[in-house]
Amino acid sequence: MQEISNEIIGSGKSIGFVPTMGYLHEGHLSLVKASKSENDITVVSIFVNPTQFGPNEDLSKYPRDFKRDESFLLENGVDYIFYPHIEEIYPQGFQTYVIQEQISSFLEGAVRPVHFRGVTTIVSILFNIVKPQRAYFGQKDAQQCAVLKRMVTDLCFDLDMKICPIVRESDGLAMSSRNVYLSPQERLDALVLSKSLSLAARIIEKGERDCNKIKTIALALLKEIPSASPDYFEIVDFDTFEIVSTLESKKSYFLVAACKIGKTRLIDNQLIHL
Ligand code: AMP
Repeated sequence: MQEISNEIIGSGKSIGFVPTMGYLHEGHLSLVKASKSENDITVVSIFVNPTQFGPNEDLSKYPRDFKRDESFLLENGVDYIFYPHIEEIYPQGFQTYVIQEQISSFLEGAVRPVHFRGVTTIVSILFNIVKPQRAYFGQKDAQQCAVLKRMVTDLCFDLDMKICPIVRESDGLAMSSRNVYLSPQERLDALVLSKSLSLAARIIEKGERDCNKIKTIALALLKEIPSASPDYFEIVDFDTFEIVSTLESKKSYFLVAACKIGKTRLIDNQLIHL
């Protein structure tokens, strides 16, 4: 992959890169389309990264179907699929990790302690292999985007981070490879996550600025569903991802929520501009 990338760059062409863990859906495709529209060559990686999963998480059962992903990507005009073996990325003796300190310490970072260390490490490795001019990520994982943008700035990675909007099912559920875990009843129950975000956004639109009040109402909606157990509902600053207590005009925020539906943990968020 490094040799291919060197050749592409040597011939004056740009590389757009979309890192994924596979089991692709329209959300991933939106990143591919954005990359294709802005670069000569688009590279998609498929790698279920073990270092970003905690010991009790779903690494072994994470959905995988390379053949399906391969035809999906080829149909959609991707130039290269980078599909490495675990031992190529983490050979024997591997012992170097990238740690982003602040943004990665709360919310997802608090519930999933090793998660962001794994993400920043794998993305750094992939950036050094693929050498993209532009890298494409989904706002679906808003905290991941904030962590990675900070890493790119702090470590002077010479590339542009492009963040693409969340792609949803027609009923509002954010697309996710993990949605396949949901039973038909849980699939219906899972709608409560996006509904809690829209409810909070409506309350804010009507003028509420006290985050505690907004959170309480959103959490109450989540708790109405017996299969739902929320990890958090918070309102965070657009840039720093710090949890805020009062909303100020002319600022942007993310409403962020994480909730288990049965055994499946889902996250979602909504961007608001005041
Ligand atoms: P994953 O395969 O889940 O690691 O996701 C790979 C990339 O696709 C990440 O940048 C995600 O944020 C992005 N992504 C996943 N789901 C969506 C979605 N529903 N809409 C937009 N981007 C998404």
